[in-house]
Amino acid sequence: MTLKTCMPAVFVGHGSPTNALADNAATDGWRALGAKLPRPRAILSISAHWYTSGSFVTSNPVPRTIHDFGGFPKPLYEVRYGAPGDPALAARVIELLAPDPVRPSTEWGLDHGTWSVLVHMYPQADIPVVQLSIDGTQPAAVHYALGQRLTALRDEGVLLLGSGGIVHNLMRVDWANASPPPPWAVDFDERVRARILEGDDAAVINYEQLGEGARLSVPTAEHYLPLMYVLGSRRAGDVATIPLTGFELGTISLTAVQLGA
Ligand code: ZN
Repeated sequence: MTLKTCMPAVFVGHGSPTNALADNAATDGWRALGAKLPRPRAILSISAHWYTSGSFVTSNPVPRTIHDFGGFPKPLYEVRYGAPGDPALAARVIELLAPDPVRPSTEWGLDHGTWSVLVHMYPQADIPVVQLSIDGTQPAAVHYALGQRLTALRDEGVLLLGSGGIVHNLMRVDWANASPPPPWAVDFDERVRARILEGDDAAVINYEQLGEGARLSVPTAEHYLPLMYVLGSRRAGDVATIPLTGFELGTISLTAVQLGA
C-alpha cells in the first residue's frame, strides 16, 4: 500500500467521555472521518487531558488505556483501546521539537481525549498511537509554533489529531442536555470556524479578542490548545473543512476541523 504524500490534520471536539460508548451524531461523524481519511501509518494525538508543566511524549511500546475521570458508569472504566505505541515516532517528535525539551514518558498512556474518539474512528485499534502532552505554562502562540514544527510528520504518514473543544465550559453545562447552546457559545464557535476557513490563524491564536463569548467559551485553555497544533501544521495548499459541528450539554462544542484531504 502506498502512503499519501501528505496526511490531513484533524481537530475534534470530544465532548463527554460517555461518547466512547455512545451512538450519536458525533460518533457517526468520527466513524465517517476514520473511513474517509487516508489510512495513517501512525497517529500523534494531542489531548486536552494531558496538560502538564513541561512537555512529554508517550514512549511505551504498549500504551495503557487511562480512565482519567470519575463518577461515570462502570462500562466506561472497562473500555480498553489496545493500539500499539510507536517509540520511534516518539523519538522523531523529540527530534522535531528540539531544542525545546520533550521528555519521553512511560507513565502516561492513552487518555479519554484520545480513545473516546479513536474507538469510533479506528475501532480495530491497529494503528500505532503516540500522545504529546500540552505544556500548560505556555500561551497559544507557542503551541501553534510547535504545531508548525510537527508539519513534517504529515509527509511521513502520521495523522496529527488534536482532541479538545473550541467551546468547553463545565461550570455552565446543562446536565439535562435539554436547552439549546447559549448565544455566546454559538457565536464564539462560529467566529473561530469562520477564521479557520478564511485562513486567519492569527485571529484563532488570539482568541481572547474574538468577541465577548471568548472568556466564557475558553475559561481554561486546555481544551482549546489542541487546535493550535492542527492549525500550526497548515500548509499553503491545504483546504480547511468542518466535518462536524454541534454542541453537547449546552456548552461543549463538538466542532471538528480538517486541514488537507
Ligand atoms: Zn475533555
